[in-house]
Amino acid sequence: MKKDPSIFSIEGQQAGPTVTIMAGVHGNEIGGILAVMRILSLIQTKQLTIKAGRVNLIFANLLAIGQGQRQTNMNLNRAFRPDDTYSTEELMSYEIHRARELMPYLRESHGLLDLHSSMNRQSTPFIICEPHSYPLATKLPVEIVSRGWDIIEAGGTDYFVNQNPTGRNFGICIECGYHNDPKAPERAFQAAMIFLADFGCIDPQEGYPPANLEQRRIWANQIYHTKVNFKLANEFADFQALAADTLIGHDGEQEVRTQQDCVIIFPHDCKGSNDEAFILGIDE
Ligand SMILES: [Zn+2]
Repeated sequence: MKKDPSIFSIEGQQAGPTVTIMAGVHGNEIGGILAVMRILSLIQTKQLTIKAGRVNLIFANLLAIGQGQRQTNMNLNRAFRPDDTYSTEELMSYEIHRARELMPYLRESHGLLDLHSSMNRQSTPFIICEPHSYPLATKLPVEIVSRGWDIIEAGGTDYFVNQNPTGRNFGICIECGYHNDPKAPERAFQAAMIFLADFGCIDPQEGYPPANLEQRRIWANQIYHTKVNFKLANEFADFQALAADTLIGHDGEQEVRTQQDCVIIFPHDCKGSNDEAFILGIDE
């Protein structure tokens, strides 16, 4: 692999699994970026030792991070897909180019922890993973775990890792809360310490024990793509419970209502067509 100043591969003292921690898949999500900078600085000053395996620390959407923007041409977290699924327009984007650069690091990884944060001030921290990663997710300091995203939002980093047929397939994405909440980088750092210790890459760190929480489990099973443009009828908090037939918003002139009792995730107004306006899920 060629040298890239945004990708740090640190070899452990002994053999062991390869794991990747990513930040800045969305370039304005500073919480994860600060956490990865903190880990890197601890390693470089020898306050944290990689005992075994290989740890990849990656600043993912480099161009968008530099601009303080979520993305440049498209959502990098939809770009990790097979070549034959890209549109011509997507193929010209920076994000597809960058996803292809990062794929080899994910292919070799037994586990991925992808650190995100939200522009929503009321954001609730939660984990995105599939059930084979639940035992690991339970150890992370977050009380909501959701599954189902691989089907409704193919092309994410965790999706790509989950598809790996070799069994190196523990893809976990963590939404750490509001970007500018100081708790977001701390939560991201805490999750990374627990994650690295669980794979045996570092010794368990004092002050960062596995959380082993009773977690609320959500199946994210519906995504709403806009037809014209979308405006919410109300402010909704992430994971707010909605009864069947609740008015969520308007797509152009048309009302959009829930079909059944559910919870809403990531609701936001959208200006254009074929945008992801919200996700619906159910408690399990
Ligand atoms: Zn994000």
